[in-house]
Amino acid sequence: MSKYIFVTGGVVSSLGKGITASSVGKLLEAKGLTVTLIKCDPYINVDPGTMNPYQHGEVYVTDDGAEADLDLGHYERFTNAKVTKDNNITTGKIYYSVICKERKGDYLGKTVQIIPHITNEIKHCIKKVALDQKVDVVLVEIGGTVGDIESLPFLEAIRQLRLELGRDYAANIHVTLVPYIKSAGEIKTKPTQHSVAALRQIGIIPDIIVCRTEKALTKETKEKIALFCNVEAESVINAVDVKTIYEIPVSFKKEGLDLLLARLLNLKYQGGSLSDWEQNVLKRIKSPSHTVEIAVVGKYIALQDAYKSIYEALVHGALGNDTRLVLKKIDSEDIEKHGIEKYLKGVKGVLVPGGFGNRGIEGKIAAAKFARENNIPYFGICLGMQTAVIEFARNVCGFKNANSTEFDKDTKYPIVSLLEEQKKIQDKGATMRLGAYECRLKKGTRAYEVYRKEKISERHRHRYEFNNSFREALQKKGMILSGIYPKKDLVEIIELNSHPWFVACQFHPEFQSKPEKPHPLFKSFIKAALSVQK
Ligand code: GLN
Repeated sequence: MSKYIFVTGGVVSSLGKGITASSVGKLLEAKGLTVTLIKCDPYINVDPGTMNPYQHGEVYVTDDGAEADLDLGHYERFTNAKVTKDNNITTGKIYYSVICKERKGDYLGKTVQIIPHITNEIKHCIKKVALDQKVDVVLVEIGGTVGDIESLPFLEAIRQLRLELGRDYAANIHVTLVPYIKSAGEIKTKPTQHSVAALRQIGIIPDIIVCRTEKALTKETKEKIALFCNVEAESVINAVDVKTIYEIPVSFKKEGLDLLLARLLNLKYQGGSLSDWEQNVLKRIKSPSHTVEIAVVGKYIALQDAYKSIYEALVHGALGNDTRLVLKKIDSEDIEKHGIEKYLKGVKGVLVPGGFGNRGIEGKIAAAKFARENNIPYFGICLGMQTAVIEFARNVCGFKNANSTEFDKDTKYPIVSLLEEQKKIQDKGATMRLGAYECRLKKGTRAYEVYRKEKISERHRHRYEFNNSFREALQKKGMILSGIYPKKDLVEIIELNSHPWFVACQFHPEFQSKPEKPHPLFKSFIKAALSVQK
């Protein structure tokens, strides 16, 4: 039977509960255990797929095509867990399923209520992951902050679950903020005390308190938190701000979190250490030999979380080249307003990520043009491939005002358009081309050289496709279609060979990059940027 670790958060949001859960997962894996991680999101959307990135941050995509919370990205980057659509549970999903059961008459005349019907459904969904994925430890992260009305059913469900599972089978970790008040020169434990009190009021007793803090807590502060929060002093864990998130598993180990969990859950470790992680990831991030500046031209630049996996994959690509990444984040609307030179002159690589809707499109197209004409390595991802193709059609093939039908329905040159099957679709939720699809690479191309194999699988999230009726015209002018989805003969990768490195893909390679295994496209892109620099 799997053991469970529940992770809750207190005081404020954005404490890094996802990274905490992932780091605990990494720590347990380093000790020879298998793990999986679940994110419970209290909002009523069935999934984040219909939310604006400015509301929610990046939408992460799993192999099985779930549009999921970005914390699932951390889970996959830190651990070997293979997360599926079941690893993200939302209030919307739970109610949807309960209401469908009610309509079918499954509740046999009963009044359907939050307790027990909603809480039972939550417990069922959590236990299903444990049963299906058969791991030693399931980490369950509850989104939101203790005290929020909307997360109450999830907290009640984990309270019940712990009682059912019994001792040795479940532990609670509470992540809180311990602020440093500059003017007083003091660290304050009161918010943590209140947050733990709020948890206790609903019957949840934390076993471990992870304290996010600017300055490490002293022994005295730990003892104070222990006293007021009813835990042992060694169960109060420092989570001091670090330079890179990949340091956190190591800092948890130093705090003895692995030993604490072993004792609480009676875990049997099979030796193991984090030394590979320290050598292959941390050391390379901290003391690289080179530096390279890469521009990301997007439309959700103001929000750090909107391109989470892209930024992480760039970091991985850089560490794979023993290089420090300097990111230049450029809002494509600024390019439209102030011209391109100001923003892209001097950068060594340009990445245009995914996106939806008209806003900022011309700025992205201009970025593709600038990179193509100035021999700057260009990496287009999803919308970034579509903009590269539109640019090429307009400026190399002479198709005036060529566009995607997403931005101009009546364009004379619909270089990117909808497949017939997409035209019929009305609903917005979960109706795009989603999840892993096979792609065949053409030998002798850059893509083949990068992946070193013919058959690859990458994750998708888009509605529009390269329009096959323009294939010939674009190929004639030198565009190479190096990756194809064979079943439907769709273009997945394009490249230019009259350029040092110009590759764009319809899929999202960033979702499969890990610090220990940088995605080959990101690694190759950074390598190209470094050689341009020389
Ligand atoms: N808006 C484009 C489409 O739906 C690109 C999507 C994306 O970049 N994820 O096809």
